[in-house]
Amino acid sequence: MNYTKQLLDNLDVNVQKHKAEIRKTFKQVKKKKPKQLDTIVHELHNEVFEKIDCLLCANCCKTLGPRITDNDVSRLSKFLKIKPSEVVSQYLRIDEDNDYVFKEMPCPFLMPDNYCIVYESRPKACREYPHTDRKRFYQLLSLSEKNIETCPAVLEISIGIVKHFD
Ligand code: SF4
Ligand code: SF4
Repeated sequence: MNYTKQLLDNLDVNVQKHKAEIRKTFKQVKKKKPKQLDTIVHELHNEVFEKIDCLLCANCCKTLGPRITDNDVSRLSKFLKIKPSEVVSQYLRIDEDNDYVFKEMPCPFLMPDNYCIVYESRPKACREYPHTDRKRFYQLLSLSEKNIETCPAVLEISIGIVKHFD
């Protein structure tokens, strides 16, 4: 079976297998803030994303609702050639934190072949996900611990972090 599909199919089982060790290591890393953390995580990010094909996964676009900012609305409005108010009325709702999110998931812009039809103009949160190539990763440890449940790449990177600091 394809590597990405295999990781996705086994995601729940592997999360259960590794989540305690990930929690323990992340707690230590959060406390120590090792200087080399960003370099290690970025190397792991590159290694893992060389093997994983997001087009065979799209689990984030199917299950996580990105927070959508006013800038995202105006970018989507230009791309879709509709008014910002129409972007809001057709695609968005306000969530319990008072943020715009998609009315429904899977995302309305996700196609059956897992391509994003607004890719060039996708929301900032979609561009940044899954955050494993960002700086000051120690600030993203709690978020990443949650993201292992959705993203097989974050799980693989987190397992790599555990191996490194063990
Ligand atoms: S970012 Fe993660 S969850 Fe999203 S498609 Fe890629 S591997 Fe899947
Ligand atoms: S806008 Fe595109 S990248 Fe963002 S969730 Fe929807 S399909 Fe995925």
